[in-house]
Amino acid sequence: MSFSRQQALKDSSAREARRYFDAEGPVSSYFGENVFDLPKMKQYMSEAAYAAVEAAVKEGRHLDRSVADEIADGIRKWAMEKGATHYTHLFQPLTDSTAEKHEAFVDFRDNVAVERFGGSALVQQEPDASSFPNGGLRNTFEARGYSAWDPTSPVFVLDGTLCVPSVFVAYTGEALDMKTPNLKSVQAISDAATAVASLFDENVHSVSVSIGLEQEYFLVDEALWAARPDLVQCGRTVIGHTAAKDQQLSDHYFGAIPQRVSAFMKDFETEAYRLGIRLHTRHNEVAPNQFECAPIFSSATTAIDQNMLLMIVMQKVSARHHLKVIFHEKPFQGVNGSGKHCNWSLCTDGGTNLLSPGKTPSRNLRFLSFFACVLKGVSDHNFLLMSSVASLSNSYRLGGSEAPPAVMSVFSGSTLHGIIEDIMAMEDFSRQETHRETLSIVGAMPEIILDNTDRNRTSPFAFTGNRFEFRAVGSSQNAAGAVYVLNTIVAEALREFRGMADRLMAEGEEKESAIVHTIRKFLLDARNVMFEGNGYSKEWQEEAARRGLKSIGDVTEAFAAFRSEDTVELFEKTGVLTRSELEARYAVMNETYVKKLQIEARVIGDLCLNHIIPAAIKYQQLLGASLDGMWKLFGDESPSLCRAEISTLRKISQGINDLSDHVAELVAARRKANRETDTPTRARLYCHEIRPLMDRVRFDADNLEMLVDDELWPLPKYRELLFLQ
Ligand code: ADP
Ligand code: MG
Repeated sequence: MSFSRQQALKDSSAREARRYFDAEGPVSSYFGENVFDLPKMKQYMSEAAYAAVEAAVKEGRHLDRSVADEIADGIRKWAMEKGATHYTHLFQPLTDSTAEKHEAFVDFRDNVAVERFGGSALVQQEPDASSFPNGGLRNTFEARGYSAWDPTSPVFVLDGTLCVPSVFVAYTGEALDMKTPNLKSVQAISDAATAVASLFDENVHSVSVSIGLEQEYFLVDEALWAARPDLVQCGRTVIGHTAAKDQQLSDHYFGAIPQRVSAFMKDFETEAYRLGIRLHTRHNEVAPNQFECAPIFSSATTAIDQNMLLMIVMQKVSARHHLKVIFHEKPFQGVNGSGKHCNWSLCTDGGTNLLSPGKTPSRNLRFLSFFACVLKGVSDHNFLLMSSVASLSNSYRLGGSEAPPAVMSVFSGSTLHGIIEDIMAMEDFSRQETHRETLSIVGAMPEIILDNTDRNRTSPFAFTGNRFEFRAVGSSQNAAGAVYVLNTIVAEALREFRGMADRLMAEGEEKESAIVHTIRKFLLDARNVMFEGNGYSKEWQEEAARRGLKSIGDVTEAFAAFRSEDTVELFEKTGVLTRSELEARYAVMNETYVKKLQIEARVIGDLCLNHIIPAAIKYQQLLGASLDGMWKLFGDESPSLCRAEISTLRKISQGINDLSDHVAELVAARRKANRETDTPTRARLYCHEIRPLMDRVRFDADNLEMLVDDELWPLPKYRELLFLQ
């Protein structure tokens, strides 16, 4: 057996389940100990400085530079007590990961070492960071990048470094990150939702977005991972025959958690609790070696920042367990991929969930207003919502018969859907009549829809009783991309809702009646996205096409939604992104797609030419030598004696030729595509020409895997990668 595969199998089978990050006492005794939250701040700074931070944290007020020095000094003292020696602004560039550049607290004045952390270092840094994708926003000579503290997200200590959650913007103020538009979208939806909520309750002053992110992931032993160049370089296997047994028996799903995995989970949970992340669930997922964890929901910025942090923590902790966490959406062909289900709802400053139906008809009316606005937003900007989750890695998962399909429909559940149907079905001859009829339907709504919403796992966007679950978000993505789009499209629908209700009232309609008519109009407008059936079925794909809903079959096409006039108008009106920022994002999406696919195509070429074909040739030679020997011994009799060898030899030789021809074609196609200078066109070429060729190469390679002597096969196989004990 190839040395690296053999060694990896040996190493991986010798591992033990062990805890490395144990904590004493119950979780409540150490929860949040590494986060500098408001109660801790109180102890480390003067009342005036504390008041300034509190206003910044709670009301998003601008932090005055005059108190920044004192705040920074308080933070430094606390961080040093926690063992921190360095600080960094932690930001979220357009790469789906986080970025950090550490600077030491220690400063040298007149050769004397002193620890310092000034207000300006806290508030703003200029990390240069010119190599991050910027879509052309930083092409001028003075286009520096700045990171700036987002005080709504608390600072924390990780691995001896004080981390300051930050936005990342260009010199011109344009956003170069995922956090900036997310913060702006939260403001936009708060304003719009407050205006609608105050139709029902004058005491609503602001509305926040609640997010609960379920994180799916795979685990692979570190040694086996290292023996697979594709996992190392692409985060997924680009070749590999399926194992005889994988998820058919559903014996992994919700099963007993393997010992090693359980130790790893407990360790990363402990670290996450120290960082104030409210983890709550853990379980085995459908595919072998696939798992999930989820925290209790929190505000949009906190939930997203903490999810990014959780991914870092999981990676760090996994190293101690000799495990690799794989966040790629589709690391293994033939078994389920991973998502990051995004649970989304709206909550008033008084703590009311606006997507909770409540008990009384008037509350139901408020619920239906918000519900109708979400549907309207999804319908009006259906393709944009899809493009918010469009990426190369997610495209391997979306549309398969396992994950949310590529069409963005909304599932309401039979009870609620029945109510919606009734409202929509009413004749609109007399407004007064319609109003009365609707109110009787609304009044008859069951008290708690939560218990009446059936689960439909095939819907990408499902109402689950008191929130929506956006299931198409990919496991490796920064959820901010999906969330700021969702916030923005719903913000616009809410603005329109209030606008229409106001207009009807100005025309003399009673408030309730105006609201009812607006709900009905919005529901009718959103009819095309309502779908209660099986989202995986062929009939639905056909039906969706008839309704004019686009499918995400081709993600490069979906990118275009970011530069459509509709989108530009939407984002500029809501103040979330400008035309040039959208253009930049469109450019980055295309660029990233091409680069990632280029890497995959190179890796698959390398694996075939330098690993698989040589192994197949060795086997070919063995068979040839055996036939030679048989010929010498048995002469004319040997062909009938060696039927199996001859047939295998033929198949192997044919397999090697096919694979080598197809790799050559792939290389030629890549060269041709690389000559295309327009990136979006190159992305389409990669999508339509390179990907099918990669599929063919994979088919040939997997075919050889089934022919070549197992002893000679150079790479760990699926059955070896996928079953941790
Ligand atoms: P399931 O897999 O059954 O959907 P999980 O328990 O894995 O459920 O995850 C549900 C997620 O939804 C959790 O993060 C939970 O806190 C979150 N959630 C619950 N209520 C809300 C809400 N009102 N708004 C946003 N997220 C919510
Ligand atoms: Mg779940």
